[in-house]
Amino acid sequence: MPGFEYFGDLERKEVQDVLDTGVLMRYGFDGMRNGHWKAKSLEAGLQEQLSVKHAQLVSNGTAAVSTALAIAGVGAGDEVIMPCFTFVASFEAIMMLGAIPVLVDIDDTLTLDPEAVKAVIGPKTKAVMPVHMCGSMANLEALKTICDSNDLLLIEDACQAIGGTYKGKYLGTYGDVGCFSFDFVKTITCGEGGAVVTNNSKYALNADHFSDHGHDHVGNDRGAETHPILGYNFRISELNAAVGLAQVKRLKEFISIQKKYFTIIREELSNIPEVTFRSVPEGGEESYAFLSFYLPNLEIARKVSSAFKTNGIDVCFHYYDNNWHYIREWKHLKNIKTLYPVSPQVKEGLKYLETKQFEKSDHYIGRNISCLIKLSWTEEQVKERANIMVKAIKESL
Ligand SMILES: *Cc1c(COP(=O)(O)O)cnc(C)c1O
Repeated sequence: MPGFEYFGDLERKEVQDVLDTGVLMRYGFDGMRNGHWKAKSLEAGLQEQLSVKHAQLVSNGTAAVSTALAIAGVGAGDEVIMPCFTFVASFEAIMMLGAIPVLVDIDDTLTLDPEAVKAVIGPKTKAVMPVHMCGSMANLEALKTICDSNDLLLIEDACQAIGGTYKGKYLGTYGDVGCFSFDFVKTITCGEGGAVVTNNSKYALNADHFSDHGHDHVGNDRGAETHPILGYNFRISELNAAVGLAQVKRLKEFISIQKKYFTIIREELSNIPEVTFRSVPEGGEESYAFLSFYLPNLEIARKVSSAFKTNGIDVCFHYYDNNWHYIREWKHLKNIKTLYPVSPQVKEGLKYLETKQFEKSDHYIGRNISCLIKLSWTEEQVKERANIMVKAIKESL
């Protein structure tokens, strides 16, 4: 995941174009902008790189998820099924719309378990939202079959998996709508930014309006535009878009470097019989943003995690004990700690969290360690790292 690793001459050049014109906004000011449309160009770049008809940039990945749901008509009282292993943004974005996040187990893909999804579908269910955590995907075909037969939307949170593919399609473009984040630690960064992608022109038009106060963007007098719908301000700035524009062109190059380093470490680790790897659904290819593996039990995983730290192996995560990515520590969600009143429907809808157990997920997350793959490493460093990791694991068994 390059993001914060790369801010070079290409990024500086794109940002400088914006600084030279002083037009920091993505819409309007046609005469002053000297031909520079960074947000528009980044949208075109995403469409091209991901072979998708429409891309709408927004201010961040969380806004992308809210936008994805809103443009497809998900709102107050609707239930959205999502995994219990993800970043907190996934349920925040659902609750922002007054909808109810229904958290279910993951399987050994580290993403949404289709069987767990089936078990909670009810009359209020409107959408299923797999989250392609740590660079790899859910079994999208199984989820699509479930969605099709229950008339549900399939919304992909692909914030951590840009560049991965499933059955010949880029992650984020398989379902009805896909979401990306370009925050500082994601594979492509804008500093802050996000995108919604879809092949559905109606949803795309909705996204164009919704993310900019309902502006219809017809004509070239912003003040005279009409507002067919109520929207919000989820706009990205030209400065942020400029950074992403420099990076998006190198997506395939980023993925191939990640793949190379991922493979070196994976091969070394696979010499240890006690280590197994996350499964990737048939027809899927990861983005190689992380290498995720399993240890025999929770105790050993904790030992390995601390052995990595004492041996200087950074950017590896044992999510079981993490505050931000796993249900175990989400006490603020379980207790609905909001600053403002939430609707009775949401309160009622979240009651299941008081008692629901996530044993299957505990089984996988407890034993999992996920290591970020960095682009700034050299091949030598990766090999040395792999050797230190093998030693630390062996000593912890
Ligand atoms: C980063 C992330 C988000 C939110 O993106 P931001 O740009 O930080 O708001 C949403 N979902 C997942 C899975 C993420 O990793």
